[in-house]
Order: sequence, then C-alpha cells, then structure tokens
Amino acid sequence: MSAPAKSILILAGDGIGPEVMAQVKRVIDWMQKKGLAQFALEEGLVGGASYEAHGTPLTDATMARAMAVDAVLLGAVGGPKWDDLPFEKKPERGLLRLRKDMELFANLRPALVFDPLVEASTLKPEIVQGLDIMIVRELTGGVYFGQPRGIETLANGERKGVDTQVYTTGEILRIGRVAFELARKRGKKLCSVEKANVMLSGVLWREEMTKLGKDYPDVQLSHMYADNCAMQLVRTPKQFDVIVTDNLFGDLLSDCAAMLTGSLGMLPSASLGAADAQGKRKALYEPVHGSAPDIAGKDLANPLATILSFSMMLRYSFDLGAAADLVDQAAKNVLAGGFRTADIMQPGKAKVSTSVMGELLIRELDKLKG
Ligand code: NAD
Repeated sequence: MSAPAKSILILAGDGIGPEVMAQVKRVIDWMQKKGLAQFALEEGLVGGASYEAHGTPLTDATMARAMAVDAVLLGAVGGPKWDDLPFEKKPERGLLRLRKDMELFANLRPALVFDPLVEASTLKPEIVQGLDIMIVRELTGGVYFGQPRGIETLANGERKGVDTQVYTTGEILRIGRVAFELARKRGKKLCSVEKANVMLSGVLWREEMTKLGKDYPDVQLSHMYADNCAMQLVRTPKQFDVIVTDNLFGDLLSDCAAMLTGSLGMLPSASLGAADAQGKRKALYEPVHGSAPDIAGKDLANPLATILSFSMMLRYSFDLGAAADLVDQAAKNVLAGGFRTADIMQPGKAKVSTSVMGELLIRELDKLKG
C-alpha cells in the first residue's frame, strides 16, 4: 500500500506571495508526477487577501485547516494598502495568529551560502564559502511576552517602560531538544547562546542545556555569550553548526547570520510546535522575506526562498530527506548555470524572471531524476 498523501495548506498571501508560490506548486506537481511523494493540497487566504475577502486577516475556518493539515506553507503578508487598518485587522495579525494558535515555539533559520553566490556576501569569500549554519530561536517566550510589561507614569512624572525576560525549565528543555535533535542530523555540534554572565534567566538556560546535553552524548555542546556570538558570526562563522538561543538574541543573531549569505530572496525558514504522541509536530514553513510590494506583480521576485522553505518541509515534516536534497541540488545547479533573479544579479550572469527561474529549476530536477 502506498504511503498516505501528506496534507499541505498553502497560504500564498499578499504581494509577491502568489507569484513565488506558483513556482513551488510546479515543484510539487513535478514530485507527484515522478511518484516521489503524494500531497493533498489545500489553499486558503491570509493577510490582506483574506481581509479583502472576509474582513479579517485569518478566518477561523482557515485557522482550523492549518491545525488539521500536516504542514502549512506560507508566502508573505502585508502591503501599503492595509497599513492604516486597525491593529487587529492588519495582515501581519493573520500570521501572528497562526504562530500563536499552532504554538510554534521553535524557529529554524538556516544560513546557507550557495557556492555560486559567495560573492553576494559582504564578507570575504573565504570566510563564508561553504557556510551552513542552523539557528534555532525560541519563538514564544522570553522578553517579548514576559510579564510584567508596560509603560507607566511614576509619582515624579517620569515614565517607565518595563519588559520582563522569563524562561521556565520546560520552555528551555523543549527548544533544547529540537536543537539537539537537529544537531544530531547535521554536524553534531550545538552552541547554546545566552548571557549567563549578567542574566539569571541565562544562568538557568545554561544549566538546563548542560543537563539536557547528557541525553545527547553524540552531540558536542558548547556555550557562548550572545555578544561574543554576534562577533564570532562575522569573524569565523564556519565554526558553528547549530546555534540555539532565546527569542530576543535569536531575533538579532538570525538576521545577522542571514546577511552572511547576502540575499533575502534566498532565505527559507521553518517554525515547529510540540511533538504529538506519534512524534509529529505542527509546522509552518515560510520565506524570511516579506511581500515586497515594490516588485509585486512584475514577475521579478526570487522564488528560491519559498522553494527552499518547501524543501525544509520535505525534510522536517515529511522525513523526505532525499527529495529535499534533490530540490536543494536543483537550486544550486540553476545558480551554477549562471541564472539569477534581479535581487541576486551579478555581472556576467543571465537575468531571469520569477517564472523562468521556476522553469529552470524544474529542468534541473528533470536532469537529476529524468
Ligand atoms: P520585504 O522583505 O518585503 O522587502 C525588502 C526588500 O527586499 C524589498 O526591496 C524587496 O523588493 C526585496 N525582496 C524581498 N523579497 C524578495 C524576493 N523574494 N525577491 C526579490 N527581492 C525581494 O520587506 P519590507 O519592504 O520591509 O516589507 C514589505 C511588506 O511585507 C510590509 O507590509 C511588511 O509588513 C511585510 N512583511 C511580511 C513578512 C512576512 O510575511 N513574513 C515579513 C517581513 C515583512
């Protein structure tokens, strides 16, 4: 009996979202035709597109679908048309609701430098060539959510702003496990990042990660202060394999690591929730970039970040590592062939549109698996 179809909810969203998603659908079609996997696809609206149709950036019905499927693939949300909407109606609220209701506490942000794009980095080629880091950021706790928080006026008329950094052992251990498991499947090195020198939540983080490390004797665990990590990322980034850190430091360090690669249009991400009894996690995959209203509708966007997000879905939600490798290799081959969308254009290369980039990728997939 063949394996059951993997169910995917596609939420293309706004701006360039639908354009880049159209290219992912070609890859999905290709995989099904080749018999590599079977998918049950559903599509829905999110962000401004959902607001226009339903008056809300995410309907309860779409939210329910997101909870039911095996994985969600999202394009991007937002745009100037909806900038003046009240807070609760803004396109971004749709995405935030997905993350919150699905309890996606682990954000995976790879920073991978493709050889043909080594020159796109602002760092010297020898520093970034072959770079392959995974940053695991805790996404639902820490200082962005801790209580108390607020702005108050003091008796002397001064105002005071308060945010609170809080982590429980449970929160630290669950993100730690995701990171150790990933490290186990990669280079078996995990660097845990906090500021245990000045923050008590950092002391707890380090203690819990150290204890957890005993369950993963095959993974080499190290600890680093966040400020040092920022320095090391731009000095010798290749020393890292997997980095695990909290919400705030992860926000900063993942953007820093992303820019080592030089291009927003190439960056995928995954956000994972807790594992159920069968070990299955709720999961949302999306490119790091936004809806790029400046180029939307012009067939100019780079679809690779979304295609690589789909590849992460194959790897992490469906355990289809070989299929994911095929997609990644096809992307590398297209770039090695000298083809570039405008955002990654380099002298002497051939500039191609969104749809041609998709077409070239399928051609490479055909070559790899005729
Ligand atoms: P953006 O990522 O949309 O664009 C930043 C710049 O990068 C733009 O010049 C854009 O043209 C370019 N760019 C982005 N993705 C590209 C791609 N795939 N190919 C080629 N070029 C690409 O960020 P922004 O301009 O700050 O935000 C635009 C809108 O997107 C806003 O409404 C913002 O709120 C929203 N946004 C959404 C998400 C999301 O959906 N996850 C993330 C960030 C921003």
